[in-house]
Amino acid sequence: MKILVITNQHKNNLNPSIYNLLNVVNILCSTSNECESCDVLAVGYNISNLATGIIKHVLVDKCIVIDDKPLENIIVDNIAPQISAIIKNYTHVLISHDDLGRNLAPRIAGILNIGLLSEVIDIISPNIYKRYAYAGNVLMELECLEDVKLLTIRTANFDTYMKNKDINQTHTQNIVNIPYNHANISSNIKYLSTECHHADTDLATANIIVSGGKSLLTKENFDNLIGGLANVLNAGVGATRDAVEFGIINNDAQIGQTGKIVSPHIYLGFGISGAMQHIAGMKNSKYVFAVNTDKNAPIFEYADYGLVADLFDIIPKLTTHFKKMKH
Ligand code: FAD
Repeated sequence: MKILVITNQHKNNLNPSIYNLLNVVNILCSTSNECESCDVLAVGYNISNLATGIIKHVLVDKCIVIDDKPLENIIVDNIAPQISAIIKNYTHVLISHDDLGRNLAPRIAGILNIGLLSEVIDIISPNIYKRYAYAGNVLMELECLEDVKLLTIRTANFDTYMKNKDINQTHTQNIVNIPYNHANISSNIKYLSTECHHADTDLATANIIVSGGKSLLTKENFDNLIGGLANVLNAGVGATRDAVEFGIINNDAQIGQTGKIVSPHIYLGFGISGAMQHIAGMKNSKYVFAVNTDKNAPIFEYADYGLVADLFDIIPKLTTHFKKMKH
């Protein structure tokens, strides 16, 4: 077994989900006596010092680095051919099911003409994995017989694994820099800008999600209350479809059957009725906290903690409280 973990840069660090992926490597290795470690492929700009950090991890053998200015904002079409060529040398390739993984993995699968197993939530053996289907209603065990098993991982379902080697086991020669192949850069796609509406947290990997319904009434309320609390908690911002259709939040925040499927550690839902189509997207959250004025709202059936109260009253209090805790 030869495992490759693909990661990218997140602000001035590597994507923190790398430590969840290394836990998946740990689990994979525990199901077989054919592996003890993995290689990491890190893509970004000015990340060489980050590679020095990750090579210290007890499970990391080698870190392959592709470091170049255009990779500050990755356009997956431009890098997928180069990554596909690297992947051919591995039996297992793991990517977080976040913005990068969702975009990159299908392109790699297309280039290499192999199957893709997305949103894996558990590892049974080197070939058998668990994932949900039909909006979370069916839990499947799938066997993958491809030579290269390409998996995107729902990292929120796995704890982080952080353990460094002894200091004298760390070898910087295990960092392999390879140049970004500019030959694959398409002139048809250009990075223009990034617009960040709320805390810069991907819902797929968020540890905490603050979510709101249409009862927020206006975009301003949504931004100030839901966005404000999310910022303090460094959480992702979620929403119901009705809130999106109401025009008070962008559709990339929609959680549910026709939106994103999430599994954070903590899900805070404000003014959300708990329609089954919404529940389908968040029912795998570890702890659910719901606030609703209606004590019979269905969301309370799924909530670990429920509060019958007005969100306009509660959210400012919570935000102030968590702000104070931070200082
Ligand atoms: P409502 O159901 O109107 O609930 C508002 C809630 O806010 C109520 O429970 C009310 O008591 C409470 N409330 C009001 N004021 C306050 C206050 N001041 N403080 C606290 N609580 C308050 N929905 C999704 O979310 N995601 C999907 O992916 C999705 N896909 C769908 C697919 C299909 C095919 C269909 C038919 C529907 C889909 N829906 C989806 C819509 C879904 O059925 C619900 O209509 C939607 O989730 C309800 O959104 P809501 O909770 O914001 O609004």
